[in-house]
This record gives sequence, C-alpha cells and structure tokens, in this order.
Amino acid sequence: MSDSTLPEIKTIGVIGAGQMGSGIAHVCALAGLDVRLSDISEEAFEKGVAAITKNLDRQVSKGKVSQADRDAALGRIKTSSDYDFFGDCDFVVEAATENEEIKRSIFKKLCPYLRDNAIIASNTSSISITRLASTTDRPGRFMGMHFMNPVPVMQLVELIRGIATDEDTFESVRELTQRLGKTAVAAEDFPAFIVNRILLPMINEAVYTLYEGVGSVEAIDTAMRLGANHPMGPLELADFIGLDTCLAVMHVLYEGLADSKYRPCPLLVKYVEAGWVGRKVGRGFYDYSGETPTPTR
Ligand code: NAD
Repeated sequence: MSDSTLPEIKTIGVIGAGQMGSGIAHVCALAGLDVRLSDISEEAFEKGVAAITKNLDRQVSKGKVSQADRDAALGRIKTSSDYDFFGDCDFVVEAATENEEIKRSIFKKLCPYLRDNAIIASNTSSISITRLASTTDRPGRFMGMHFMNPVPVMQLVELIRGIATDEDTFESVRELTQRLGKTAVAAEDFPAFIVNRILLPMINEAVYTLYEGVGSVEAIDTAMRLGANHPMGPLELADFIGLDTCLAVMHVLYEGLADSKYRPCPLLVKYVEAGWVGRKVGRGFYDYSGETPTPTR
C-alpha cells in the first residue's frame, strides 16, 4: 500500500544499533532529525548510544562539533526495542545484521506499526532491494540507502531503487542524503551494488593471498597501503567492516551472479566460524586486545 503524499522527513527510525545503525543515528541526530533507535535488546541499543556518545565527544574534542550541538543531538535520540515506537516515523532505515531472514522478519513486524506514507530503506550491503521490498506492504515506498563505515566520516551514500520504487521516494531519500551532508550515487539493484561489487572481491582475494601463503597479514596490508596507496590494507579493512558481513556479501555475489570467481575463501569462512569476525569482537586478522593490533597469522 503506498500513500500518494510523501511526508517531510523529520522523525527517523533506525533498526539495528550496531556499527552502522549507531553511525546513521549519529549523523541524523546531528542534522536535526528526531531519531528512534532500536535493537533486539536494551543491552544492544545501550551499546549503540555509548558508541554515539564516544564518537560525538571525539568530534567535540577535534573542534568539529560544538558542545551544544553534541548535547542537542544526544537529546534527539530515543531508544526502545518495541515496534510501536516507529508509529510516528516518516522514514525508517533498517541496519540490522546482513542476513536476509532477519531483515524479512523485521519488515514483517514493522509494517503494521508504520504510517501509510512512511518510507522504508535498507542499509544492506548486498541483498536484493526488490526482494526485500516485496516482503513489505509498500514496495513503492521502499529502497536501498547504503551508508559507508564509519558513517560520520564517510562521504558516500549509495541509493538503490528496487523495481517498484516510486520516483518521489527516490527523490525524497536523495534530499535526505543531502541534508545529512553526504554525496549520493545511484546504483542499480544487482548483487552488492557498486562499492561492494568491487571492494569485496578484492578483500576476498587478499584472504586467498594469505591462505595460499603468498604473503603474511602484515605483508599483504603493507603491500596494498604502500603499493596501491590504499589508506588501509585489505585485511585491516575486512576486520573493520566485520568478517561476518564480508562473508555474507561474498555469498550474495556468488549466489546472485552464479560465477565461481566470487566463491568465498575457505579461510574467511573459518575465521567467521571461529567467531573471529574482526574489530567489533576484538579479533580477526588482527588481535586488538593490546596497545597495537597484532596479526593473528
Ligand atoms: P553489526 O553486527 O555491528 O550490527 C548489527 C546489529 O543488528 C546488532 O546490534 C544486532 O543486535 C542487530 N540486530 C540483529 N537482529 C536484529 C533484529 N531482529 N532486530 C533489530 N536489530 C537486530 O553490523 P553492521 O556492520 O552495523 O551492519 C549492519 C548492516 O549494515 C548490514 O546489513 C551490513 O551489511 C550493512 N553495512 C555494513 C557496513 C560495514 O562496513 N560494516 C557498511 C555498509 C553497510
């Protein structure tokens, strides 16, 4: 069901308070939007608010945000794990774990609580927007809004239309992107869109390079930092993104494009099976428990 009139976006819901959801809540609250931030448990959204507070404090100490704006932004963020709290939202962005079943069940639960004309966006890194839209009651008011990590720092947002996305929905989300001070690029709805279609196969290849013993973790990252002028090495970047998310994106590319060149490296699978999914748990290709990260291989 899609109402013909679009709301002015003033109140925004964010589902998932992990790395991405907390970053999205951060930039939206700083831009003056009222934010409803949710996750599966109080512990999870409290962790999100703690991350936002820490990142805002860092921006204040660097002179990028005033103390008054920091306080006002934090005052605009409300938290809950109840879906009725999205009832007054003009726009809801889903930033939960990269798993299609989880996202589908979130949209099923969310839709009955939403106003008829509210827009829904997914921050998915790779999953079909058309397929996710079809699990909602409003495919015309649904699209992809793919922020980059860390959200307060990275300039880009990929905007993805599903096959049914209405043009005014797209325009409204493009305007919101501008209000957040970000730059939008439009990407078609094919697996992993633009950035991750290019970036994740490179990261997967770096893991193969490690797996085949071509170089150590340190050698691979140094080679790509100094040899290709990348600000971070690919394994360091994989830890930053989250190895679970990297593996999920490779599965979507492999299954969605049916090409063996996208097969996930067995070593990446092994790290995820061990629960060594990167920075967010303190261990991935590097161990983050000490003063400086040390390679785990
Ligand atoms: P994360 O693991 O840091 O956070 C995911 C959060 O979702 C967790 O807090 C988890 O408790 C929550 N969650 C799980 N099931 C839920 C449910 N049913 N309802 C509400 N919350 C639920 O992951 P992340 O890095 O923030 O990634 C989130 C999304 O953003 C994924 O779709 C990912 O592909 C996408 N994304 C990630 C990056 C990145 O670099 N990490 C970049 C762009 C987009």
